[in-house]
Amino acid sequence: MAKNVSGRPVRPQVVLEVLGREQLSAHLVRLTLGGPGMANFQDKDATDRYIKILFAKPELNLQPPYDLDELRKSLPGEDLPVRRTYTVRRADTQAQTIDVDFVVHGDQGLAGPWARDAQIGDTVCFSGPGGMYQPKPEFDYHFLVGDETAIPAIAASLEVMTEDMVGRVIIEVNDQNDEIELQAPAGVQIQWLHRGAPFTPEATVLEGAVREAEWPDGRVQVFCHGEREVMKSLRKYFHDERGVDRRDLSLSAYWAYGRAEDEFQAEKRSSVGQIFEEQPTGRG
Ligand SMILES: Cc1cc2nc3c(=O)[nH]c(=O)nc-3n(C[C@H](O)[C@H](O)[C@H](O)COP(=O)(O)OP(=O)(O)OC[C@H]3O[C@@H](n4cnc5c(N)ncnc54)[C@H](O)[C@@H]3O)c2cc1C
Repeated sequence: MAKNVSGRPVRPQVVLEVLGREQLSAHLVRLTLGGPGMANFQDKDATDRYIKILFAKPELNLQPPYDLDELRKSLPGEDLPVRRTYTVRRADTQAQTIDVDFVVHGDQGLAGPWARDAQIGDTVCFSGPGGMYQPKPEFDYHFLVGDETAIPAIAASLEVMTEDMVGRVIIEVNDQNDEIELQAPAGVQIQWLHRGAPFTPEATVLEGAVREAEWPDGRVQVFCHGEREVMKSLRKYFHDERGVDRRDLSLSAYWAYGRAEDEFQAEKRSSVGQIFEEQPTGRG
């Protein structure tokens, strides 16, 4: 296996083609990716598995896979491919495809506008997957919480839950046009929250609804991901107030309001970007 500059083995980047697209809701588009590059895709046993998609400046005409160590020697920092993190919603081993569901959040950024405009035959290059969560049978109750960006991981998690599992899902979206059908065991209650507008710190209603939800008896496993400041408040709730153990709590910022992902990832090294005092996972 190839090694990076620090001598650590690196898995080859996966280069795939867009084979299909489907509008799942007003702001969620599914791209089905596949092709010969699937030979390099090593699936992971986690329902929040995520990939880091690399976006290169089109005018540089770089061809994937990208030799990032070499490119760092020849290109200024601002010309290097940048990463955007996305959940693998589904991997179909028979068809040799993966589905990735993108929130289309307007004209800002790279990945959202790219997914909105992606055409069949377009190329996608990524590293990963990483990830570590899955709903475990030894818990009495499963709490899954998030905004639009966590829908793919929550949907994938619900699909692997056994019929006897119980819990609650709370997802915040703009309005009912952003809801999708979720397959869940009968004992899992699903609650959609409507902000009535695109996300702003003023419009979000997620924390209030989570606090209002009845707290269950027994051992609770929590999956909670979304906008950074909301996640900081929910970390306080689940961890500090309800006493959920760190090991039972998958909670992180998937994005930060007003920050491009590069900036948001860099801030994880400072107090403004940290959800816990020290970061619990290597997710970002
Ligand atoms: C482990 C992990 C898994 C993730 N899985 C998914 C997934 O499956 N699907 C998905 O859509 N996202 C997912 N995300 C979130 C996604 O990586 C971010 O939303 C990312 O910032 C999008 O990149 P961009 O180039 O579109 O926007 P950026 O260039 O990063 O940001 C540009 C601007 O858009 C704003 N912005 C970014 N995302 C959103 C949003 N969702 N809503 C409103 N404003 C936004 C930023 O605050 C910034 O102001 C995941 C993140 C992580 C860490």
